[in-house]
Amino acid sequence: MSRTPIIAANWKMNMGPKEAKDFLAAFKNENTCEIAVDKVIVPPFVTIPAVMEALNGCKCIGVGAQDVSDRDNGAFTGEISTTMLNELGCTYVVLGHSERRQYHGETNAYINKKIKKALAAGLIPIYCIGETLEQRQGGQLEAVLGSQVKEGLEGLTAEQVAGLVIAYEPVWAIGTGVTASAEDAQSAHAFIRSVVADTFGAEAADKVRLQYGGSVKPANAKELMSQPDIDGALVGGAALKPDSFAAIIKASL
Ligand code: PEP
Repeated sequence: MSRTPIIAANWKMNMGPKEAKDFLAAFKNENTCEIAVDKVIVPPFVTIPAVMEALNGCKCIGVGAQDVSDRDNGAFTGEISTTMLNELGCTYVVLGHSERRQYHGETNAYINKKIKKALAAGLIPIYCIGETLEQRQGGQLEAVLGSQVKEGLEGLTAEQVAGLVIAYEPVWAIGTGVTASAEDAQSAHAFIRSVVADTFGAEAADKVRLQYGGSVKPANAKELMSQPDIDGALVGGAALKPDSFAAIIKASL
């Protein structure tokens, strides 16, 4: 089946409201609206309202958050709830990014709770998985990816999994300038799809969109995204400039 590519800009802790407005003013001139792929911007929480304002109702870019709480509301200082993301008009939420796993100790089980919370609120999770260099070199690639898929998605229905986005982001490729080769990325994606098929069935595996992330840039985007199991990209550094994010979107066709 053909899956619509999805290209997402993870701005991480960059881009305050003013910078975001400047970005979007310039990005409009890149004429990506007509390109038939799903485009997503994932700003810091405080920048989301400015992005919504700058988009001014334009539906050609979806907006996501970089994380969400697994709780409803209450005494959880610093947390943001799904209700708040709904109120802002978010469609997506990135969960389990390796930086959350590494610096905030997030586990597959904890991320699983957030994924369920997001789904219950009608948000589309972009669930990030990926191995460290030590794990890859130690021959643990498939064991790590397999448990991230099974534990992170535990208890979901096949239909819920079909609607997800899973971002394969080898930790050694994030923000390092080192990209996985197209062959290595394709083989990891094919493995992830096979785990989804074994666990949730062939239809869910066929429908779930798998993004590659890790030093994607205009120069390597086309080769990566032309692989059969790569359905788009989650982009950090190269999505901070309107022209380079637009070039990656154009490369996805
Ligand atoms: C990311 O943050 O998800 C990412 C892939 O970053 P970069 O593109 O900078 O490697």
